[in-house]
Amino acid sequence: MAARAQVARNGAVLLGDSVACDAFDEQRPLRIVTHAHADHLGGLRKSLKCCRKVLMTRATRDLTEKLDETLKLRDFPIETLEYGKSIQYGDERITLIKADHILGAAQVLVEDANGNRMAYSGDFRIDDTPVVECDVLVVEATYGSPSCRRSFGVDVGKLLVSMIEQRLRGGTVYVFGYHGKLQEIMQLLRDADVSVPFVMPQRVYEVARVCRQHGMRLGSLSLSTDTDGRELLDGDLPCVAFYHMNARGYVGLRNARICVSGWEFTKPCRQIGDREYLVALSDHSDFDGLIEYVKRSRAKQVITDNYRSQGTVLAKEIRKRLGVSAVPMPRTPGQSTL
Ligand SMILES: [Zn+2]
Repeated sequence: MAARAQVARNGAVLLGDSVACDAFDEQRPLRIVTHAHADHLGGLRKSLKCCRKVLMTRATRDLTEKLDETLKLRDFPIETLEYGKSIQYGDERITLIKADHILGAAQVLVEDANGNRMAYSGDFRIDDTPVVECDVLVVEATYGSPSCRRSFGVDVGKLLVSMIEQRLRGGTVYVFGYHGKLQEIMQLLRDADVSVPFVMPQRVYEVARVCRQHGMRLGSLSLSTDTDGRELLDGDLPCVAFYHMNARGYVGLRNARICVSGWEFTKPCRQIGDREYLVALSDHSDFDGLIEYVKRSRAKQVITDNYRSQGTVLAKEIRKRLGVSAVPMPRTPGQSTL
């Protein structure tokens, strides 16, 4: 039998006969969660009730629990799997492989009894992500258009650290971003020996603690609601305040502010307000990185994830540039794929 993969209407990435990744599928006994971002947790409650096994890395389990406290994952028999380790289910062997995205993120490889290899990249940044060689590849398509290239020629992480260091001389610096990336910035700062206190609200703090338990070096962390944190923020003292992007409209309005976003392709850094800058730090590959991954995977057939982002352009570019068969899935109604 040939290698088989598809992306279902509800976003479930189906590999081989048994596996559904990142959304629930009632025909599939194995549910895999590639990482803790919300668009990869679809129908997790149903999977926990109905599937034979729910698999993820230990870090993803711990992060998911913090990001959605109503889930109570510890009440369910989740099987955690380390990178590079496999489990056998029927005729299929399932392996999780590291993806450079957020803590715990994994790619998925399913091998069947005939030696067919079916892989799903999940979300990734190519820099530190091992490419999985396979026959059929499902690839993410977040920056799947040729206009999404970040060829700045500078180390954006270093630039961000130096911007924060400079602004700390004037008091508190607010950093806005998404869960996972905020904690990555904390580590970048600590690695650069920035030793000022880090202050943050409850949810960011909980996620950071999980990251620290899993080996990230984040130093000491303060809650914005505790006396220490409150004094630092109210006194505009030198510290870095980390908030989710959603809080951007109502905290630190008079302070130095840095928003971190991947949707920025013209410059590594751009002024967007009186004391506010946007920095192009992403946890996804840009267009060139996606094409590079597909090429190195040597897949004969590629499916672009057209559920979490728009996969049509990427599929077309893969066909054009690499001469490899590629389709977006799920199909957009009425859309031609050629
Ligand atoms: Zn993600």
